[in-house]
Amino acid sequence: MEREMTSMKVRFLGTAAFEGIPALFCGCELCKKAMELGGENIRTRTSVMLGDDLKVDFPPDTYTHMIRDRLDLDKVQDLILTHSHSDHLYAEDLVARLPGYSKTGDHPIQIYGNDLTIAKCKQMLDAEGGAQGKFVLNRVRPYDKLQLQTSRVVPLPAAHDPNETCLLYYIEKDDKTILYGHDTGTFPDETWEWLKDKKFDLVILECTVGHVDYQKTHMNIEAVLETKSTMVEYGMLKPVSEIVVTHFSHNAQLLHADLVDIFEPHSITVAFDGMVLEV
Ligand SMILES: [Zn+2]
Ligand SMILES: [Zn+2]
Ligand SMILES: [Zn+2]
Repeated sequence: MEREMTSMKVRFLGTAAFEGIPALFCGCELCKKAMELGGENIRTRTSVMLGDDLKVDFPPDTYTHMIRDRLDLDKVQDLILTHSHSDHLYAEDLVARLPGYSKTGDHPIQIYGNDLTIAKCKQMLDAEGGAQGKFVLNRVRPYDKLQLQTSRVVPLPAAHDPNETCLLYYIEKDDKTILYGHDTGTFPDETWEWLKDKKFDLVILECTVGHVDYQKTHMNIEAVLETKSTMVEYGMLKPVSEIVVTHFSHNAQLLHADLVDIFEPHSITVAFDGMVLEV
């Protein structure tokens, strides 16, 4: 019997690094051009929805994402957090799901993250009387094998902020295998070691700094291309695998069309806000 192939919608809610594009307070050439051209050049802070029940990160633009894409955030069952930087976690807005602020379903949203992200969430919720059944906070460590309501997930070490255990996520959902690969510089050796015998349907990488000669805590174009080559070398990609780049900084001075010109010849997709992929 042939198994029916399922497909999953992957929605890129935001595709910018911390400052957004155009960036807050910025008058640089790129920000001016992005403001003028609009469309795919306007980028909010990063988050992705896998299906309608699994969300990665909770940036300050979540409210904007909800309105723009008419999201029903109450369908979210699991929220996984990469790290505590404010472009990935704006814990203040979690309070909006508490009784008295909103009418929601009865289910708690399960939140998974490192100790710092969980502490941030707890601090905000505690100031309002606690999670009150609306959230369950789960502290995770690298290599934990997590059975979520929506998926199976393994957090892996990123090369990002040396003061924090920043996490990449290996995700299995609806028969698909996904790598959520940022924020990070060139992957740490131990992460490659864990990943190298896996095969992916979708790999999401960051390209924060563009042409800038830097790969330590964020990736540049060269680091993205090297990461893809290593994946090809290890046999981690299927013929149908999709590689997507996201999390762009205005400091890279690249418009959406410039990024497409750079990555298209390498069969890498440049994300834009609101982009939906069928994986
Ligand atoms: Zn970031
Ligand atoms: Zn700028
Ligand atoms: Zn970060």
